[in-house]
Amino acid sequence: MRLSERAKGITPSATLAVATKAAELKRAGVNVIGFGAGEPDFRTPAHIIAATKAALDGGHTGYAKPSCGIPAAKEAVCEKFRRENGLTYSPSQVIVTLGGKEALALAFAALLDPGDEVLLPVPYWVSFPEQIQFFGGKVVPIVPKGDDLRLTPDQIAAAVTNRTRIFVFNSPSNPGGFAYNAAETKAIAAALADHDLIVFSDEMYDQLRYGDRREHFSFARISDAWYEKTITFNATSKTHAMTGWRLGYAAGPTNIIKAMSNVQSHTTSGAVHFAQYGLIEALTGDQAHVAEMHAAFEKRGAHMARRLNELKGVRCIEPSGAFYCFPDVREAFKPLGVSDGAGFCEVMLEKAHVALVPGDAFGMDTHIRMSFATGMEQIDTGIDRMAEVLGRK
Ligand code: PLP
Repeated sequence: MRLSERAKGITPSATLAVATKAAELKRAGVNVIGFGAGEPDFRTPAHIIAATKAALDGGHTGYAKPSCGIPAAKEAVCEKFRRENGLTYSPSQVIVTLGGKEALALAFAALLDPGDEVLLPVPYWVSFPEQIQFFGGKVVPIVPKGDDLRLTPDQIAAAVTNRTRIFVFNSPSNPGGFAYNAAETKAIAAALADHDLIVFSDEMYDQLRYGDRREHFSFARISDAWYEKTITFNATSKTHAMTGWRLGYAAGPTNIIKAMSNVQSHTTSGAVHFAQYGLIEALTGDQAHVAEMHAAFEKRGAHMARRLNELKGVRCIEPSGAFYCFPDVREAFKPLGVSDGAGFCEVMLEKAHVALVPGDAFGMDTHIRMSFATGMEQIDTGIDRMAEVLGRK
């Protein structure tokens, strides 16, 4: 059976590959500690579940109308952006989607023509290069120079050309675990100012920022001009522990949102109708769970980074956002007899029974990603096991 060239270009998710191998070991009776998960280890708060159950009982089981989001859900998204991001959008500028992933895919579908260039900072979320290529775009990666992994304006200025159609900005970063502050965000925008392009601001982790980078600053807030050229993406997945609900949303220029909605109306018909009542509750109801999860993640992230820095050949920056540590492990390659992050992760899975994600999947084979969306005890046990293989400094 012949597959399309487009489908053949897509590689399977590396994060899932690690999870599969870890699951195999688990089935064989091995106690594997998993650091691969890109989702909170908390349950969806009860009031969100209750609102959704009420919607089911209330008969909201037909097609969502319109497919790009029921009016009350779009209003809730507008309220969230106003309250938490200082951004004013009207419902016609909003689309509700099947997770943040669908929102991003629809936007690439709406904007890319064959060969259009997309500037993609490294390390990047796994699905970005795949989505860009699937919709005919050309990925132009920008590799950071410093240990902190943040790009400098001069690097952005050097990469942008008149073929650049989209600049992808993901702060806080998955997998980097770092966040840009307001000044850095504005400096990056200044480096792009002379170009006719659209910014995709992926703000999935806007409520998960730590230490002196606690304050989130949305790209669209920089100025009216940038507001006009930015699509802001978010989801209830990470902030409200709702990954399996598949609820995302985006806001931006009306004509782009309209084009995205058209594509959506012929592909998925949008987010699940009754689940959208869960989104409304998540975005406008009691927010106590957000602070609780934030406090837990902040403590775990600092602890994980501190403990990772005890290990020989491992250097880790304290995370300032999301729920990932992204340590540089290249100095451990030679002692382990491996040549990249994938080899490192293989040894760790086999010898330490610890599941990690190789940085190769995110464009940096010198690093690995470890999620701290897991309990403190798991973090300590997993790092103790890694220490037995790597040694301590
Ligand atoms: N963007 C980033 C940076 C992410 O980390 C994720 C999820 O892992 C997504 C988008 C997609 O989120 P969702 O699960 O809501 O589709």
